[in-house]
Amino acid sequence: MKDGLKRGLLLSGGMDSLALAWWIKPDLGITLDYGQLAAEAEISASKVICKRLGIDHHIISIDCRSVGSGDMAGGQADTHAPATDWWPYRNQMLVTLGAMKAISLGVNTLYLGTVKSDCVHRDGSQEFIDAISKLMAIQEGEMTVEAPAINLSTLELVRVSGVPRDMLAWAHSCHKSTVACGNCRGCNKYFEVWNELEHGVDQTE
Ligand SMILES: [Zn+2]
Repeated sequence: MKDGLKRGLLLSGGMDSLALAWWIKPDLGITLDYGQLAAEAEISASKVICKRLGIDHHIISIDCRSVGSGDMAGGQADTHAPATDWWPYRNQMLVTLGAMKAISLGVNTLYLGTVKSDCVHRDGSQEFIDAISKLMAIQEGEMTVEAPAINLSTLELVRVSGVPRDMLAWAHSCHKSTVACGNCRGCNKYFEVWNELEHGVDQTE
């Protein structure tokens, strides 16, 4: 049964996904609680943007922490980790779990909030997006995966999206906790972007 062509966005509640949601205005948002330490805060932030956009927000809870690693799981980084926030096969997991729900909602395009700096992880590369999109498309439902902001920095995405500052302020970027730890790659990026928005040459208005 197919009911139209819907566009779903995987929302992590971070600046990138909030700005992307504002930019592309998807038909629905999906947030995963996969056992990451910041899940609760990521869900709250995602809820806010969906409410503001007037779209449905779906939450999936599946505890994968026992097979996670690094900052987000509260453990040591794996020996393969390119950065301490690496979680093995994270985007592959998120796409799969998200798509398992999305297919039942009539979604045929699934968006990821990947940005340029995410390429420190191989699953944040264009090569990965192309590969997983192909993998999804050969299966029932023929869903495709897109990352519209993959060539933009977070700052560029925030500017191009026109997301209001009061909305962006809800973003949760910390990898380690539901309260910003101030000392992880997520927090550092969050403060950097705010700093640039406030003191840089702002072209949004
Ligand atoms: Zn942090």
